[in-house]
Amino acid sequence: MALHRKRDSGLDDVFATPLSEKPLPKYRMPDGESRPESAYELVRAELLLDGNSAQNLATFTTTWSGDETRRLMADSLDKNLVDKDEYPQTAEIENRCVHILADLWNAPDHRGAMGCSTTGSSEAAMLGGLALKWRWRQRREREGKPADRPNLVCGPVQVCWEKFARYFDVELRQVPLEPGATGLRPHQLSHYVDENTIGVVAILGVTFTCDYEPVEKIAKALDAIQANTGLDVPIHVDAASGGFVAPFVQPDLVWDFRLERVASINASGHKYGLAPLGVGWAVWRQADLLPDDLVFRVSYLGGEMPTFALNFSRPGGEVIAQYYAFVRLGREGYRRIQQACLDAAAGLAERVARMGPFELLYDGRGALPAVSFTLRDASSPFSLYDLSDQLRMRGWQVPAYPLPPGREDTVIMRVLVRHGVSADETALLADDIRASVERLSKGAPPDSERQAFHH
Ligand SMILES: *Cc1c(COP(=O)(O)O)cnc(C)c1O
Repeated sequence: MALHRKRDSGLDDVFATPLSEKPLPKYRMPDGESRPESAYELVRAELLLDGNSAQNLATFTTTWSGDETRRLMADSLDKNLVDKDEYPQTAEIENRCVHILADLWNAPDHRGAMGCSTTGSSEAAMLGGLALKWRWRQRREREGKPADRPNLVCGPVQVCWEKFARYFDVELRQVPLEPGATGLRPHQLSHYVDENTIGVVAILGVTFTCDYEPVEKIAKALDAIQANTGLDVPIHVDAASGGFVAPFVQPDLVWDFRLERVASINASGHKYGLAPLGVGWAVWRQADLLPDDLVFRVSYLGGEMPTFALNFSRPGGEVIAQYYAFVRLGREGYRRIQQACLDAAAGLAERVARMGPFELLYDGRGALPAVSFTLRDASSPFSLYDLSDQLRMRGWQVPAYPLPPGREDTVIMRVLVRHGVSADETALLADDIRASVERLSKGAPPDSERQAFHH
């Protein structure tokens, strides 16, 4: 009888239950229940097919978290960030983070700065873009001028800005890359900015090349445009990655609220902010830059609290973990981590440069802890896509892709070095790049040889 038992008796091995007899459901929920341990093991085993996140050098986002972060995340699994009245201390912690960031980014009065957490830089970009659009429209209406053709001027932006433009009906004026450029160059602006420009997006850490755009010079170019034409165009800095790098390791770089033209800044807490996935930040230099009719009020401790967000319910844990990182690391802790990443990136850049076939596009110095490079020789026997495939065999995920419009004929490879990617790991990667180059330069061995090898 026991041999024909079909129901999970609770004694079976997790891999010898009715649930484990067949592939897991793809289209229809099972009719009955299973033991949690066996369902857990089966789902977990499927996930082993994912790449190893520690070797994912394509992502900017956090892949290493300590035990305390994991504990705080588990402790706050039940906290809905939107319930300000029910979880006032979580709301307080969110506010503290906003003020800490406003201070870090040199807001003139960081206690009076306005901001909020978001699900990431994408939501923060939508909010920053909306505030620009609203303010531009209010001004145009006050002046009795048409306000139906807004545009946003930017360089090689991340896809979130293309989404903002499409979803909120704004023309995206993307300035093409000049030869040799890794981002927007200030002198290009005057050809793109006009009376319908709601703002210019400057990027601190261009996704494609990892270099910073020169925010201060962009601000100066806009000052000159204002002097010549009267157009007063604000800047939003997309500091998704750089917002948590520059303040610690490039403190003299002027890119933030020290520039009066910078109205708002976004950053991803879950990138170099070192928080786990699911948190970003948007901060405005002062409250009046955020138009009142974009703000909703929710009840909070008997009173009300202003909120600005696209989502309603959201987990509180990521914000709490962000605050933990601020408290735990302090400025010195962040500085040491980002500096270690920069050093590892610069070391990798030197190794890559010495190999011969590559030309560095960004050498890991002065901007994000990353390296980007191209193939020096157009007639190389292999492409960077081939190299990417070879590295994948050792588990490394290193993307190859073409540059944005203007330099779309250039294919590059990019390696991101972030918290948890050590100098040891980058040295091992360099060894694997060298070995792959040797293999690719020789060409793949003929089939007969392969078989002899395997016999
Ligand atoms: C990653 C990134 C974004 C999008 O941020 P998410 O936090 O992933 O939503 C936007 N801009 C830049 C420059 C980025 O690097």
